[in-house]
Amino acid sequence: MSVMEIMEKRSAFSFEVFPPKTDVGMEKLCGEGGVLEQLYTLNPDYISCTYGAGGTNVGKNLEVLDKIVSDGKTTGVTHFTCIGNTKEGIKEQLQTYLDHGIDHMLALRGDLPFGWTGTGGDLHYATELVKFTRQEFGEKFTIAVAGSPEGHIACRSLEADIAFLKQKQDNGADYIMTQLCWDMDQFRYWLDAIRAAGIWMPVDVGIMPILDQAATINMALSRNGCVMPRELCEIISKNWIFPNPFVKDPFDAEVESKKESFRKAGIEYTIRQIDEYRACGIDGIHLYALNKYDDVAYIAKEAGLLDLI
Ligand code: FAD
Repeated sequence: MSVMEIMEKRSAFSFEVFPPKTDVGMEKLCGEGGVLEQLYTLNPDYISCTYGAGGTNVGKNLEVLDKIVSDGKTTGVTHFTCIGNTKEGIKEQLQTYLDHGIDHMLALRGDLPFGWTGTGGDLHYATELVKFTRQEFGEKFTIAVAGSPEGHIACRSLEADIAFLKQKQDNGADYIMTQLCWDMDQFRYWLDAIRAAGIWMPVDVGIMPILDQAATINMALSRNGCVMPRELCEIISKNWIFPNPFVKDPFDAEVESKKESFRKAGIEYTIRQIDEYRACGIDGIHLYALNKYDDVAYIAKEAGLLDLI
């Protein structure tokens, strides 16, 4: 069943993984009894795999998706970006996905690699990628696109960003996967605003489990400029690892206990956030699995996501 058919009937529940850089990481994710096989036991509607910017890790992206497709337990969704890709290269890669049985994609502009000012490819925005994919492949792909409830960090205004989101729909996109957003008032405002703008695409909400202090701060601030609510800031402050959570060898004697209490508080925060999102009438929860199982499975279970099916 396509993801769209599922979301017509009920809320969807899915995971996101990333292509590991090492053979050990690949074995942990894709090997026998590995994280993917553990995630299947939770019956997700789909598992998406990220696509490295500027061509890095793209090979592993296909290997991960091949595993998902050949296991046949869930739908595989590939992320795909314009970064460094010519039109010819895009056509070839998308045809390869179809040849491998992957017909769901998240069409993105892509994060610009450090120091780049544009995509370095033939297409410059996700709107163009959606249009090109429909022109070349018709309805063969189910196409998701990114939506940014706080506005993309480079957008000149939230209104402009919403207008471009509408353009993605007009060009043939099927559903929205959202960027990280902890500011629930802003999310509710955005949801009303996109509906008022004539955007009817289902909204699948991206959730990053809060498990690690440095990763949480990094994800919010290195690229996305996300607002952090007071409650989340308090969790970070109460468990601050000195001198800061980014150094390799912190001198803080309580480092291990702080990591653990941060993780516990972060898990509870994530579960409450999913409750709030589900109460907004969204169409799905897309949990970043971070190539892990235990904590993610606990969150999915406690948030009631395993009962959606
Ligand atoms: P776009 O929608 O193209 O928007 C980029 C900027 O340009 C915005 O400011 C927008 O307002 C503006 N804009 C859009 N269209 C136009 C237009 N036609 N004319 C003028 N301005 C325009 N990145 C990766 O590299 N790999 C991944 O696997 C990956 N996975 C992601 C998964 C999710 C769920 C999300 C939400 C993001 C992911 N990203 C990934 C990050 C994403 O690539 C970045 O956020 C990127 O900076 C923007 O991508 P986009 O598709 O939203 O861009």
